[in-house]
Amino acid sequence: MVPRLTLGSLRHWRRWDRDLPIWYDVEYRLPLTAFGKRTGLEPRRADLVVWYLLEWKWIARANLRTPARARYEELARVHSEEYLESLSEREPLARVFGVDPWDVPVDEVMRTVRLGCGGTIAATRDALARRGPTVNLMGGFHHAGPSHGAGLCAVNDIAVAAAVARHEGFEGRIVVLDLDAHPPDGTASCMRRDASTWIGSLSGSSSGSIPGVDETVLPPRCRDREYLAALDALLTRMPEPDLAFVIAGGDVLDDDHLGHLGLTLTGARTRDLRVASALSGVPSVWLPGGGYHGEAWKVLAGTVLALLRHTHKAIQPGDNPMAARFARLARHLDAMGRTLAPPPELSFDDVAEEIGMTPRKGPRVLMGRYTAEALEYAAYRFGLLGFLERRGYGQFRIELGTATTGGERVSLYGSADGAEHLLIDVVVERRPVDGIDTLYVHWLTLRDPRARFSPRRPKMPGQEVPGLGLARELTQLFVLAATRLGVEGIAFAPAHYHTAYVVRSQFRFVDPGQQGRFEAMMRDLGDLSLAEMAEAIESGRVLLNEAPFRWEPGEMILRLGRPADDAAEVAAVREQARFTLAESVSAALKSE
Ligand SMILES: [Zn+2]
Repeated sequence: MVPRLTLGSLRHWRRWDRDLPIWYDVEYRLPLTAFGKRTGLEPRRADLVVWYLLEWKWIARANLRTPARARYEELARVHSEEYLESLSEREPLARVFGVDPWDVPVDEVMRTVRLGCGGTIAATRDALARRGPTVNLMGGFHHAGPSHGAGLCAVNDIAVAAAVARHEGFEGRIVVLDLDAHPPDGTASCMRRDASTWIGSLSGSSSGSIPGVDETVLPPRCRDREYLAALDALLTRMPEPDLAFVIAGGDVLDDDHLGHLGLTLTGARTRDLRVASALSGVPSVWLPGGGYHGEAWKVLAGTVLALLRHTHKAIQPGDNPMAARFARLARHLDAMGRTLAPPPELSFDDVAEEIGMTPRKGPRVLMGRYTAEALEYAAYRFGLLGFLERRGYGQFRIELGTATTGGERVSLYGSADGAEHLLIDVVVERRPVDGIDTLYVHWLTLRDPRARFSPRRPKMPGQEVPGLGLARELTQLFVLAATRLGVEGIAFAPAHYHTAYVVRSQFRFVDPGQQGRFEAMMRDLGDLSLAEMAEAIESGRVLLNEAPFRWEPGEMILRLGRPADDAAEVAAVREQARFTLAESVSAALKSE
């Protein structure tokens, strides 16, 4: 027997190791703010994956490729002219993404859609050229048909890339392995006339039989073993491909909002490793598909690790790419701050005061450290301004001041429609809470004043206008500021349940009793939507051990050092507390 490790396979190995091309753009993040909360979709998925791969040094910048927007001529190889024309209107895009028409900045959404599709086209050309795998961190829009979009898919990047390859002279057999949790209805109808195409799919739900698809519909929560057995069977039936598209869906995880397959992260990685082996030496384009779970980014990062290193090595539970990325940027900004800082003993304002010019009101630097310029530059570097620009705002201005209620205030304004709007407003102070020094957030509001409330996006207590979808970034920036100030935590007092709910994974109530009741409330009433819960609390229809419950606005804290030692106390209160809804409310909710 000749050993299987030949020079050829070694060469493949090395190719995986170093040169895997990955298409990515910062504008892969859809500029929509309303849909993430409902579907569990993380609009930052591609960012998190790239930050993880770079910060943990799995890849170098040289692995990244920048896509160009798919041209309309390319899209028209698959989609009808009428349909493509309709994509310049808000309503059809709003239907595809399940948001309200006002929430759709058409040009920016189409920019993201076309960039994602352009990434798949380029990745396909490159896969054919290198006879190996390529990855596009956005794409796998398998629900888009020739003249309609659906389920977050406006155009079918797989079919478009295949049609472009055909147009450029590729004649071999195309295989589409659709391993997203949902069936490839759109892809099948887009590619039905291409006789040398085979589509195989494993799904956790069925939309009826799809002509031309070798589809296996698995039972709900089938788990890793049954899934992988079905995958092996599918790979056996797969004809020898000359080009493969793999939709390595991120919605296969257990507890995914929209997928029902029930896989673990290990199961998803094993899936990718088995497919990678089956496609060894075949040009293959790997796409993320869906993913409606907090950990879906790890499935996609895992796909890259499977191709790059052929490894089962798990991504650690605590690995937080945004924290790592922001910390690196902050170190860079700190270094810049030291070189650019003016001499502390004299500044223009001091001179102005000396010669009798009107001094500016309020502090010129936040927390004794941050100038308005430094804060605006940081907002740019951390990606906030880019996102706000895509939402239609520009000409940003930061104002520093003091709040009448105490604390220092930072306000970020942006202009749109000929007026200036307040977008971010923060009041902070350094103050002890529960015996430790904290960065105390008196007030934080993230406002999208051009957006509107609707049944899809209900108004929460305390909200004047809808939010910006940037709370995660702001929390991370508070962590950085607190670290830089040398304090031991970040604290605030949530005036409403929904505010506490949003930060529940990082912040805990200082009072163990309150933390216990909060956890019991999530346990007992967790089936209600945030809006239903807010309404029930505000109207006094939530009962704690059968007595009316009022929201207690106590302090919550995120400890940067040692965690609180109150688990037993919290558990004791939690086990004693039973939350129910007053009868009338239960009846009202059931009838909806
Ligand atoms: Zn899906």
